[in-house]
Amino acid sequence: MSVEEILAELVALDSTSARTNVEVIQHLAARAEGLGLSARLYPYTDERGVEKLQLVAVSQQDFVEGGEVELALVGHTDTVPFDPAWAEALQLTEREGGLYGRGACDTKGFIAAALAALGEIDLRSLVRPLALVLTADEEVGCLGAKRLAEARPFRARHAVIGEPTSLRPMRAGKGYCLAEVTVRGREGHSAYPALGASAIMRAARLVTRIETIAEELKGLAHEAFDPPHTTLNVGLIRGGTAKNIIAGECRFTLEWRPVPGQRPELVAELVRREVEALRELEEDFDCEVAVTRLDGGAETPADAPLVRALEELTRQTAGTVAFGTEAPQLTELGADAVVFGPGDIRVAHRTGEFVPLAELRDCVQILRRTVERFCGAEHQ
Ligand SMILES: [Zn+2]
Repeated sequence: MSVEEILAELVALDSTSARTNVEVIQHLAARAEGLGLSARLYPYTDERGVEKLQLVAVSQQDFVEGGEVELALVGHTDTVPFDPAWAEALQLTEREGGLYGRGACDTKGFIAAALAALGEIDLRSLVRPLALVLTADEEVGCLGAKRLAEARPFRARHAVIGEPTSLRPMRAGKGYCLAEVTVRGREGHSAYPALGASAIMRAARLVTRIETIAEELKGLAHEAFDPPHTTLNVGLIRGGTAKNIIAGECRFTLEWRPVPGQRPELVAELVRREVEALRELEEDFDCEVAVTRLDGGAETPADAPLVRALEELTRQTAGTVAFGTEAPQLTELGADAVVFGPGDIRVAHRTGEFVPLAELRDCVQILRRTVERFCGAEHQ
């Protein structure tokens, strides 16, 4: 079967994160078994009660749970939702060298390329174990990969994380963190400000200090990134009940993307320090910082064997990505992780997402050679 035929089958199976991915994983498990891999399923129920499956398929029949594989090829099976008006979302359609469909680019294209590459290799000739790892719930916070990192069904020395990078290897990524900040004041008639305390004014003072924190963090530079530092954003703010009432409460969302090597907690700690400073100025300054997500960045050294191999096979120098991936979880499982795959992240998640057919085919050959290099006999 050609790589585009494999991809067409995957795109036809709707696996939006909110739905169950049982159908697509069972399809992939059957394919993996057909190639001679030994497939294991890891089920869980997501927070809304929807059944999810993850697949770890290993080239060794006698692979012991928790053992180490040489190379893992990792792809997420879930996709972002699609507009019902996109009639061909689940029907892979070729136009002018591009294959269109939901997930074609992010990240079913990579999964199809991995399957096609493994189909070209005599897996019995591999001398070191290879794993195909297919996850759930990546698009909603890498929740499936986090479960694998906790359960440790395998360890890996090297991992290729399939994401659209236009076939450029990416060796580092920033983290992703969120906090919900609630500032409280005292309501009162706006004609008598002294009788109350405005939560909005208090929040504004804190936000101004957060802007200063963002400036300070520019001093902790990581030159591999653009911009080369941790970034902060207050993306949502809501407070008050009426124009003539002193606001009793104001909430805002703080997001930060830490550079690798920086503790993800750092920003929350700096914000809490400012809250304490404001409390010194105003005794009843009431503020709560609730951290809801704390994913650190991940980085693989520029001279790591997988980085070097993919640079050589793609003839591109390794870069960095600003978007979240499953690389931190594979790093936790022991791997030097590199993010790599066909398609452009700028078209992912859009209506009309596509993967260029030429890139998809090149990806098959690059993955085949990567597997042969890391797991084959040639480098015994
Ligand atoms: Zn993705």
